[in-house]
Amino acid sequence: MSKFVFITGGVVSSLGKGLTSASIGLLLKSRGLRVEMLKMDPYINVDPGTMNPFQHGEVFVTDDGAETDLDLGHYERFVNQPMGHRNNFTTGAIYSKIIERERRGDFNGATVQVVPHVTNEIKQKWLNLEREDVDVILIELGGTVGDIEGLPFLEAIRQFHLERDPEDVMFIHMALIPYLRASGEIKTKPTQHSVQKLRELAVQPDMIICRTTQHIDDDVRKKIALFCSVRPQNVIIEQDVPNTIYEVPLILRQQGTDDIICKRLHLDAPEPDLSQWQAMIDRVVNPEKTVKIAVVGKYITLTDSYKSIYEALMHAGAAFHAKVDILKVEAEEIEEKGADAVLEGVQGVLTPGGFGLRGAEGKMAAIQWARENNVPFLGICYGLQCAVIEFARHVCGLPNAYSIEWKTDTDIFEGNASAQAQDAVVVLMDSQQNVVDRGGTMRLGAYACWLKQGTHAREAYGTEMVRERHRHRYEVNPKIKDMLESKGMIISGVNPDSRLVEIVELKDHPWFVATQAHPEFKTRPTEPHPLFLGLITASMEN
Ligand code: GLN
Repeated sequence: MSKFVFITGGVVSSLGKGLTSASIGLLLKSRGLRVEMLKMDPYINVDPGTMNPFQHGEVFVTDDGAETDLDLGHYERFVNQPMGHRNNFTTGAIYSKIIERERRGDFNGATVQVVPHVTNEIKQKWLNLEREDVDVILIELGGTVGDIEGLPFLEAIRQFHLERDPEDVMFIHMALIPYLRASGEIKTKPTQHSVQKLRELAVQPDMIICRTTQHIDDDVRKKIALFCSVRPQNVIIEQDVPNTIYEVPLILRQQGTDDIICKRLHLDAPEPDLSQWQAMIDRVVNPEKTVKIAVVGKYITLTDSYKSIYEALMHAGAAFHAKVDILKVEAEEIEEKGADAVLEGVQGVLTPGGFGLRGAEGKMAAIQWARENNVPFLGICYGLQCAVIEFARHVCGLPNAYSIEWKTDTDIFEGNASAQAQDAVVVLMDSQQNVVDRGGTMRLGAYACWLKQGTHAREAYGTEMVRERHRHRYEVNPKIKDMLESKGMIISGVNPDSRLVEIVELKDHPWFVATQAHPEFKTRPTEPHPLFLGLITASMEN
């Protein structure tokens, strides 16, 4: 039987609950325990796939094709194990399942209610993760205690606590301890109130993790313990880390967080071995050199939109004791000022995934600049599509080359654009690999890629077959493969089943590689991704 740890948040959102949950996961796993992670999102969207990156940040994609919350990215990077559909669900997913069952008549005429039907469905999601070989299941509730949307989840947590033995269920509450600059005071009242809110719902935390910008002394710790009814040693102070988020597990470890959890859950596990993790942090904190990489994107003002990309760059830099100085470039700025002006001095260029026409010309101008100036380049998903279109336009003599994604239904209806036209170099395909004008199928999750001998991609990966995660609808038109190759673009990776283009690169260029997949989802702090290592290696030489 597995043990369950629930993690809630109070006072404000964006406390870093995902990071803290992931850090606890890492600590427990480093003690030899087998852990599972789960993120519950109380919003009504069925998954974050349709949500605007400006509002929600990056959509993290798993091997099994789930479009999930970006916290699952933290989980994978810290706990170092693949997540999937089972590790994230929303209120929307719960309700759509219940309504579907109600329509089918599964409830035999009963009135369907939040208690017990919704709460049962929530508990079922937890039980789905329980297995003989899983010691601890860490369950994080999104949002803040007191939110209307969170109530059914907290009610399910309350019920679950009574259904299990006391040593099998633990509650951790995270809250903000604000600092008032004017009076120079640290305030514990909001934390007290958020714990009161929890207790009104009959949930008493066993541990409080306090997020703070300031040092918090023992008196304050004792006060929080007294007012929130927990032991003083169970009040953990998570002060902002000075250098990197990867230091969070160390801070928690110093205060014995994992010891307390193990004791509370009656788990007998040896001390964690964090030596590799510590070595990685040492490389991040004491870089010997800097490498400047431009990331040319569309949602660049919001850091969370390209979370995994930034992490992947950092991991690859750390492998070489290098700090990656990321220049975040809004693609439209290149359209206004030109690539020369904006990209002057960068050693490498990366174009991430994206959707829609806005910014595409700017991305292509950046790609052209990298191609013509022998600046190392990594294109990801939309980045590959833009690289192929740029190459078709400026090298293959198709000045009007386009992606069918940019064409409206009216364009197609009036015959001004078609996926069958010669200029349509990025197209839609149906499940039989026919090029179609509209519809098409989305490629989601892990797909195999066969790598051609003697290419940068093959050399970087050091193996013949890889699997990478996808999230896109459009593909390089198979009809233009010969044209691209005859002009010096190598198709270095293809899907072995569909023969779809997976990776392209340039023959006469130090490092110009673009992939249809999202390699950033598979990077790890202690195991950087090969393509990011390739980009950083080449950029350091530039
Ligand atoms: N918009 C492109 C497509 O749907 C690329 C998507 C992406 O970069 N993830 O194919």
